Amino acid sequence: MALLSRLRTWALTRSPWILHFNTGACNACDIEVLAALTPRFDVERFGILLKGSPRHADILVVTGPVTRQCAPRLRRIYEQMPEPKFVIAVGTCACSGGAFQGCYGVLGGVDKVIPVDMYIPGCPPRPDAIVEGIAKLLEKLRRGGSSGRGRE
Ligand code: SF4
Repeated sequence: MALLSRLRTWALTRSPWILHFNTGACNACDIEVLAALTPRFDVERFGILLKGSPRHADILVVTGPVTRQCAPRLRRIYEQMPEPKFVIAVGTCACSGGAFQGCYGVLGGVDKVIPVDMYIPGCPPRPDAIVEGIAKLLEKLRRGGSSGRGRE
C-alpha cells in the first residue's frame, strides 16, 4: 500500500493535472493563471496540464475570495477530486479574502471551506510567482513532505 502511495506521488509530481476554479475573483488573478499556462511562462515544462474535470485533476488552483454562493460548489469540486489531491490559493483574495474581506456575501479565503496546501499572495500574483508556487509544492511532495495543509 505504501509502495502504491509512493508510486502515485511520484507520478503526480512528474505530471500533475490541474483544475482552475474562480470562487469570486475580479478576473485579474485568472488572467495571470492563464498567462502562466501559455508557452511564454511554459508551466508544461513541469508536466502540468490543465483539465476540465475535477475527477481528472490532482491540484485545484483557486482564485478569488470565496463567496457564500460559491462555497458549496468549491466543496463539491474538491470532494470529486481523487486522492491524493492538493489545493493552491492564488492571489491575496484566495489566501485571506483580500479586498473583499468583511463583505456580507464573502466567507473569506479558500481555507475557510477546504484545506489549502500552498498560498501564493499578490494582487494579482505574477505568472512567474504562480509557476514558482506550483514548483515549490511539487518539490515538497517529491521530498516526501506531507500535503502540509498549512501556510507556505
Ligand atoms: S487578489 Fe487582486 S487581482 Fe486577485 S481576485 Fe483579488 S482583487 Fe482581483
